[in-house]
Amino acid sequence: MNPKVTIALLFCLSAGALSCVKAGSSGHSLLTLKRTQMHMGTLVSITAVGHTHDEANEAITAGFQEIKRLEQLLSTWISSSELSKVNAAAGKSAVKVSLETMAVVRKSLQVAEMTEGAFNIAIGPAIDAWNISAEPRIPTSEELAALKPLVNLQYVHADVWERTIYLQKPGMRIDVGGIGKGYAADQAVTVMKKAGAVAGVVALSGDIKTFGRLPDGGAFPVGIRHPRKEGEILARIDLQDEAISTAGDYERFFDKDGIRYHHILDPQTLQPARGCQSVSVIAKEGVWADGLDTGIFVLGAERGMELIEQLKDVEAIIVDAQDRVLISSGLRNRVTVLSGLGQ
Ligand code: ADP
Ligand code: MG
Repeated sequence: MNPKVTIALLFCLSAGALSCVKAGSSGHSLLTLKRTQMHMGTLVSITAVGHTHDEANEAITAGFQEIKRLEQLLSTWISSSELSKVNAAAGKSAVKVSLETMAVVRKSLQVAEMTEGAFNIAIGPAIDAWNISAEPRIPTSEELAALKPLVNLQYVHADVWERTIYLQKPGMRIDVGGIGKGYAADQAVTVMKKAGAVAGVVALSGDIKTFGRLPDGGAFPVGIRHPRKEGEILARIDLQDEAISTAGDYERFFDKDGIRYHHILDPQTLQPARGCQSVSVIAKEGVWADGLDTGIFVLGAERGMELIEQLKDVEAIIVDAQDRVLISSGLRNRVTVLSGLGQ
């Protein structure tokens, strides 16, 4: 997988295991520490603000451990994960899962409802057919038509009381790649707070969750990547106790005959969705930001923005296929657009 960072953290630490000390707004000295590791197929950076080096360091370690633990439950790249077992039992039997796996699947079904099926975790067989992350190819329309009946959430039975998941048709496969990193960021923040961190940021590539404020009292500044100019920032926003998540057609893609094929598929056509270049969603929780960025990417800019305007405490910046930048009403006074669009 390609560990490109879609959203940049713009505060004082930029890479590696770094630290800096500053007086907090209350006058006590606070320390900021950041470490980066690879997990869930991507670069994960965790920043913690603490009273001591040990406090910040322990919070970061706890955050990474939590992400590793969730990866073992949710990754479909790991054959022993709970979701891999659910997929292997498709058409055969229900599989008992942990509370967390159930929570991610139930929330995925909620995002599916909110986005009228644009977000669909039963997309797995089509993701496999395109194989964008490993050996990309263009499946034939016959092949996709044959997979279509499997991409149907009616055949995903998530029984909360029994705590089991059953995929009714053989060949079905659920894939939480569109929502799992946001969930992991939320859970990592929870354990970091328990470990004593005063503030911090968990960034799994483009899925970022912040809590608290920087030692100087400022919110965490975050840059949203320009979808077509590598290394350029399109817009800047400050976050406090919020998550931001970006879905982009520049993350994993290939070009063939001048057409860009990427990793976000429209469940109707099983082809790459064409309405947007990037969708950044800001919400209180990473799980909603991540689920919605993928769902809205498929819904398209107009319908996506209509949905955002209906949701409380959820905002978005969308770059549509025509290079237009749409900013939701609650964000217009908060976001600074830095770069023009166009190729
Ligand atoms: P990433 O940060 O990995 O790019 P995104 O939030 O952009 O994640 O979601 C992309 C991933 O979501 C794909 O790699 C695939 O696993 C999954 N996916 C693709 N299309 C859909 C869809 N229509 N509904 C739900 N998940 C999808
Ligand atoms: Mg997503």
